Amino acid sequence: MPWKVKCNSCGTQWELGVSFDIGKQKVIYQYCSVCKKNTFNEILGYED
Ligand SMILES: [Zn+2]
Repeated sequence: MPWKVKCNSCGTQWELGVSFDIGKQKVIYQYCSVCKKNTFNEILGYED
């Protein structure tokens, strides 16, 4: 279940595979492998 998210710190877009619905949120706090720390990530939408 890939969600397209974008790290607000570095701007990297990546896919987040989670089994729960995050579509109601605007952002999610997740580990960014580029920043190498937890950052706020903008939820861009669901990828088919
Ligand atoms: Zn980042």
